[in-house]
Amino acid sequence: MNCLLCNSNETKEIFSYKEGSFVTESKKYFANVGIRTCENCKISYCTNIIKENLDNYYKSIYQNTQNKKKDRFKEFNSRFFSQVLFFINHVKLHKNIKVLEVGPSNLGILPSLKIFQEKIYYYYFDQITLKHKFNNITKLGDYFDPDTSKLPEIDLIWMSHSLEHIIPKDLIKIIKTYHDALKKGGKIFIEIPNDVKTKSFNVPHTLFFEKEGLSKLFEKLNFKILAISEINSVEHLNFSNLKNENKNTKIEKKSFLNKLYLFIQTFIPDKYVKKYAFKHFISNGPNSNFPIIRLIVEKKD
Ligand SMILES: [Zn+2]
Repeated sequence: MNCLLCNSNETKEIFSYKEGSFVTESKKYFANVGIRTCENCKISYCTNIIKENLDNYYKSIYQNTQNKKKDRFKEFNSRFFSQVLFFINHVKLHKNIKVLEVGPSNLGILPSLKIFQEKIYYYYFDQITLKHKFNNITKLGDYFDPDTSKLPEIDLIWMSHSLEHIIPKDLIKIIKTYHDALKKGGKIFIEIPNDVKTKSFNVPHTLFFEKEGLSKLFEKLNFKILAISEINSVEHLNFSNLKNENKNTKIEKKSFLNKLYLFIQTFIPDKYVKKYAFKHFISNGPNSNFPIIRLIVEKKD
């Protein structure tokens, strides 16, 4: 496989997929996948992936996520709240901007953006339908396809943990389509897990970027880097020895506690919930101790 950015045929097999969550589904839909790395571009691509299989994988794992309990103070979800704080440190949130989010899942960035800017037109692509009670929310489709999806003119595109899920062969086309849809001075916010640092190569992640590779990609496609940051260091964490079983147990434990919290908080007064929510959601910073990369880019003319 040639590099999709520089077209070099010297991509190498340096990394390989490990067993992640949803083992049965992963085996079913990603039987023959591998990883090729372009050392020059510092991007790694999933090979032998079939688009239909990726869609079916998401369908099968999303089945039970639609009927979540009401979660108060969702705008302070640590991942999204932390992202918005990062963003407004660099960019002003103007009135009446049009924001497109790709893959908000059942929450997304809108509640947290609304703390700082009430007047937003929000568009999104996801297989899940958002239940927010805000005005001016438009679902554009189940997923963004650069060949068929129509985009309105946009001021800001938000991709929180979605860039690493794109079919590699669509990557360049997708970013070019975003470039076309963005207004003059339009921005993209991206957060991705720093999988290369942690050596976590799991499906359904299909692209693995290093910080340098991520900036190069956007610079090459006519964007200016406004901010790029690696968050959470890996020095004291031994990720390579972390077995996947342990990781899965952790995720289950967390979601059990989360479920318990969601259940209990419906019966107790706001001021206690607020105190707990602030402490629990915000003091944890950007959602987890896992290293992430954040990037804000601006469209060049
Ligand atoms: Zn390359």
